[in-house]
This record gives sequence, structure tokens and C-alpha cells, in this order.
Amino acid sequence: MSNIVAIVGRPNVGKSTLFNRLTESRDAIVDPTAGVTRDRHYGKAEWCGRTFTLIDTGGFTSGTDDIFEEEINKQVKISVEEADVIIFLLDVMTGITDFDTSIAQLLRQTNKPVLVVANKVDNYDFMAQSSEFYALGLGDVHCISANNGSQTGDMLDALVKALPPVVEHIEDDIPKIALVGRPNVGKSSMVNALLGYERNIVTPISGTTRDSIHTRYNAFGFDFYLVDTAGIRKKAKVKENIEFYSTVRSLRAMEEADVCVVMVDATQGFEKQDVHIFYDAVKANKGVVILINKWDLVEKDTHSTETYKKMILDRIAPFVDVPIIFTSTVTKQRIHKAIETAVEVYHKRNRKIPTSELNEVMQEIIEFNPPPALKGKYVRIKFIMQLPTYAPAIAFFCNLPQYIKDPYKRFLENKLREHFDFTGVPLRLFFRKK
Ligand code: GDP
Ligand code: GDP
Repeated sequence: MSNIVAIVGRPNVGKSTLFNRLTESRDAIVDPTAGVTRDRHYGKAEWCGRTFTLIDTGGFTSGTDDIFEEEINKQVKISVEEADVIIFLLDVMTGITDFDTSIAQLLRQTNKPVLVVANKVDNYDFMAQSSEFYALGLGDVHCISANNGSQTGDMLDALVKALPPVVEHIEDDIPKIALVGRPNVGKSSMVNALLGYERNIVTPISGTTRDSIHTRYNAFGFDFYLVDTAGIRKKAKVKENIEFYSTVRSLRAMEEADVCVVMVDATQGFEKQDVHIFYDAVKANKGVVILINKWDLVEKDTHSTETYKKMILDRIAPFVDVPIIFTSTVTKQRIHKAIETAVEVYHKRNRKIPTSELNEVMQEIIEFNPPPALKGKYVRIKFIMQLPTYAPAIAFFCNLPQYIKDPYKRFLENKLREHFDFTGVPLRLFFRKK
């Protein structure tokens, strides 16, 4: 579970420059979708062992200059409601503008931590100038240069101090399922289809974060929590900035869930943004199920689902071991199948494979297909075990872990999937010295 930090500020103060500086290096290393992530407006950042999700609100504005100000003010309000900490970015070269003043006014009304950050302090001459930002009445001013990185470390120290403690998950054995996806794919319709009958709602319970309401669903043989139903329903009332609002909300829901049901609009195809959302769930090590919703609107011939599936698998490679279900919230087609599958994925993700079984199966495979020798040295995998983590992680103990290369790792993962059915569950493989 990670906190959410929003960078707000008027255009051109350096929000995206700062965003890139704080997220880039990390994403480049951990992101299997690195090639398609260039134009992202949110990502993970890390400082002193604390990981948080950083959002560049500037990436969510659209439209012409005259409506800019209004739109940004609304975005600041959403940030104040949804983020844990707000970075208020200012430009030392221009000083305080009227626009800055109006944003400051909104930010003074919240109890959430606001970090006032003066950007473009490229040299000491600007340092003195930055003191004018104390007049905004929001406390200490942190000076940085997003361009050259100077003093961003001090700012991050302050940021990490301001992050609220991470609240632990609700501990029970009931699956927490999040419906995620772009606006308009049918998430609210799905919630309504499921919760349509009031009698099915056992108790709406408060979630682990202040504004999220998880709804317990218990009917037709299913028992699970729908994560952040409040956020999905409220969305209908947020007329502008839907994309921004949905993004923040679903990032949070994803963190709180065990299984993410990634909903896609069948009439729109599987776009880059859908791939992003899918991989957000994978990277968070959540279970995943893909729903191709609005299937009632698609003209079908006998090969439609197969053709569609193949297209999706091509887009989401390399992680393709995932259930894909074609649904309609209008005709109620396969809605129960979707939930049933999500619950199955939950159980697969929770499973612990006995060490003896794991070794029996995998050692035989490894014997027939040992890791290739490197520099004349034989690599021996001696012992395999599943680690006691929430999301499945398998450790391979060997003499020369650094000699095991990616293709062989993929081979082992595929074999694990073949034999132990982890469909919909991201696996982590670790190679350790023994
Ligand atoms: P945004 O609209 O707030 O996202 O601002 P951008 O990140 O696009 O930056 C606007 C302009 O300010 C760009 O030309 C950046 O190169 C420049 N800029 C950003 N950070 C700094 C900085 O620390 N020093 C200087 N001199 N320019 C910067
Ligand atoms: P959300 O933004 O993801 O919550 O999407 P909504 O649930 O608000 O749905 C957006 C629009 O798509 C609404 O007009 C729905 O009536 C429509 N819709 C949702 N699911 C389906 C479906 O399965 N079939 C059809 N034909 N329309 C749907």
C-alpha cells in the first residue's frame, strides 16, 4: 500500500520536469512496459525506503488558456481530497502570480500536508528571492531546481516526514476486488449490476483510507469486498477532470485490492492506457482478470472472441497468463463468471505450494533443461521454495545466481505456470546463493 502525492501548480512552473526527475530512474529499472510509459502522468517514486505514487496533475489538464485556471482550481480541490500530501510548485523566476495566490487560497483550507516548493532555484541568487513565497501562508518554503536536481533530496526528506503512516490491510480471508479501467468502460454499471438488490449489501465498511468505502457482497455463493465502491459511484458527480479523479481513485483502489478486475470497452479496443492500467496491477503484484465489457455492442462472427483475445494477448505480452472474459452489464452476460474468476484468482494468489511438491516437479524439469553453463561454469539449482509473502514469490537457491539469465528465468516461470496454475497471478522469481 503506498501513499499518493500530487504535484499541483499553474502551467510552466516545472511540474512535469520534477515528476520526471523523481520517477524516471526507478521506472526505467522496474517497468516492463518502459517503452510505452513515456507519456505517463503518474508513477512510483522512492526515498529513504518509502515508496509513494506521484501524480503530475499538469498532465491531466486540457483545453484553452481561458478555461485553464478554473480547471486547475478544480483539480487542486480533487488533489486536496484524494492525495495524502500535496506539493505546491512555484516558479522563483516569475515570483507570485494571481494564479498562485488563488491556488494557495484553496490549499490553506486543508489539513493535509502541503509542501511549498520554489522551483528553478538554479543558483544562490534565486535563494533569497524565494522568501517571498512565505507570504502565501503555507509554511516553510523548500527551494529546488527540478532541472539540475539541486536540493531535491532535502525536499524529499520533508516530504517523507509528511507522509501519513501506511495503514495495514483489513485482515480476513475475504477477497478484496477492485474494478479498474478508463472512464466509461462500465465500472459503475458493473457495481450497479452486482449491488442492484439492496439485500445483497451486507455492510458497507470503511476502508483502510479515509474516503474509500468497500462494500461487502454476499449473494449467489459469492462473498467478497468491492473496493472503493464509493469512489466509483461518486465519479458520476464529478463532471470535469473525470480522468484525473478516476486515475487517483483507481490507483488507490488497486493498492487496497487483492485482485484487480481490469475493465475494457469492447467498442474501443485495447488501447495504450488499458495496457498501463493492466501493468499497474501486475507491478503491484495483484491478481488480474481482464473483462471485455459492452460485448453486446460488438458484431460477432464465430471467431470474434478468439480474434479479440489474440489481439489483447499481443498487446499485454510478456505477461499473458491471464483470464479474459467477455461481459455485458446490460444483458448481464457473464457477470457471475467474471466474479467467480476473480475469486478463483484470489485463491490461486493465496496458495502456498508445499516445498516438497515444488522441488519434485521443478527439479525434474531442471534436470532435463539445466541452466546453460556460463564461462565454463555449471549453474546448479539446488533447492526451491515459495517465500512466505502475500503475493507468490518463488526462491531458487543456487551456486551462481548471477549466471542465470532472463530467458532461463522466463523458462522457469512458464514451467511453474504450466504445472501449478497461476493464471491471473503475477509471479516473482528470486535467485539466491546457497
Ligand atoms: P509544467 O507545465 O509545470 O509541467 O512545467 P514544465 O515541467 O513543462 O517546465 C516548464 C519550463 O520550465 C520548461 O521549459 C522547463 O525546462 C523549465 N524548468 C523546469 N524546471 C526548471 C528549473 O529547475 N530551472 C529552470 N531554469 N527551468 C526549469
Ligand atoms: P464507468 O465510467 O467505467 O463507471 O462507466 P459507466 O458504468 O458509467 O458506463 C459508461 C456508459 O457505458 C454508460 O452509458 C453505460 O450505460 C454504458 N455501459 C456500461 N456497460 C455497458 C455494457 O455492457 N453494454 C452497453 N451497451 N453499454 C454499457
